[in-house]
Amino acid sequence: MNKRMYELGSRRSVIRETFEFGKKRAAEVGAENVFDFSLGNPSVRPPQIVTDTLTELLKTEEPTALHGYTSAQGDAGVRAAIADFIRKTHGAAADADFIYMTCGAAASLTITLSALCESGDEVITFAPYFTEYKVFTETAGAKLVALASDPDTFQINFSVLEKAVTEKTRAVLVNSPNNPSGVVYSEETVKKLAAMLEKKSAEYKKTIYLITDEPYRELVYGGVKVPYLPNYYKHTVVCYSYSKSLSLPGERIGYIFVSPQADAAKELYLAVCGAGRALGYVCAPSLFQKMIARCQGAVSDVSVYEKNRDLLADALRSYGFSCVQPDGAFYLFVKSPEPDASAFCEHAKKYNLLLVPGDDFGCEGFVRIAYCVSTDMIRRSLPAFAALAKEYFA
Ligand code: PLP
Repeated sequence: MNKRMYELGSRRSVIRETFEFGKKRAAEVGAENVFDFSLGNPSVRPPQIVTDTLTELLKTEEPTALHGYTSAQGDAGVRAAIADFIRKTHGAAADADFIYMTCGAAASLTITLSALCESGDEVITFAPYFTEYKVFTETAGAKLVALASDPDTFQINFSVLEKAVTEKTRAVLVNSPNNPSGVVYSEETVKKLAAMLEKKSAEYKKTIYLITDEPYRELVYGGVKVPYLPNYYKHTVVCYSYSKSLSLPGERIGYIFVSPQADAAKELYLAVCGAGRALGYVCAPSLFQKMIARCQGAVSDVSVYEKNRDLLADALRSYGFSCVQPDGAFYLFVKSPEPDASAFCEHAKKYNLLLVPGDDFGCEGFVRIAYCVSTDMIRRSLPAFAALAKEYFA
């Protein structure tokens, strides 16, 4: 068998390990006494329009249309509806012929990376970053180069980036709102990034593409704006997913949008179709494609996450912990009170608090707390956090 695949399959991610531990612990002490903050599984219901549309589709559409194969790249009408939404909402040039329907952001990323990269290429990203980026990039034959962000804001450190871009750089991969820091890149950061990529593309006489991983685009608080990257840098590929915005992570639906203004956009789109074919990611789930076409613009109730963020962040700060203020997504990235974040997470288990060390996100000395859980669970967990804090800050 393939040694790398064997190793990937035998080593579960820390997040999954922690989640499994939580299930075991719940059987021992009762589910209500375990505070599992490990997984980014949305607790908020999908919007009513999603349920209504699915019910309507099941009642009215022919089963062959509903459950049959679509075109490999997705139903043409669905792709046209998405392109229309992108044009109207973001004012970006968009066309159905540059959209490829996928099974969520994970598939969007693996396809895009395989479409863009040749062996020996480098893909730059910024720590902290989603744990699977390394696996996805290496599977595409390329190398992930993870750069430290500004430690106080987790915005991009441009002097570090300037030195890291070389003739080997094929793409820069960003994720804003970010998992795990919750940070949203400001318009200033985005403009600087676009200018740097223009400059470096000219210097190395090659197009450096920008890949933007956007499962959390709509999950922002306090009116924060998430700049639409194709409007700032034309060589952009958007890897979108409805997993979090519509609370549907198990249904596996998303898309890739290649900006039609990118260099070699048509060829890149064909490479996306080729990579989808090579990886077996063709005909994303039909029922969910059709639902998506009718639910453009719908978003789950994010006010619940905002309430959770405020409740948890304020309480943790009052106990002595520190973290950057997350403007989006549903994670807190908290500084570990001891240098070894894994040791701290092990210690937290004593209070049945399940947290994830930041090491796998490329950032040592931090822990991720996913607050996409019920507000009630957060309330009930606060005495445990307070007791844990006392051990470090008393
Ligand atoms: N990218 C980021 C930053 C994520 O946090 C996740 C899931 O948590 C994914 C990609 C994968 O998303 P999906 O469930 O849509 O495949």
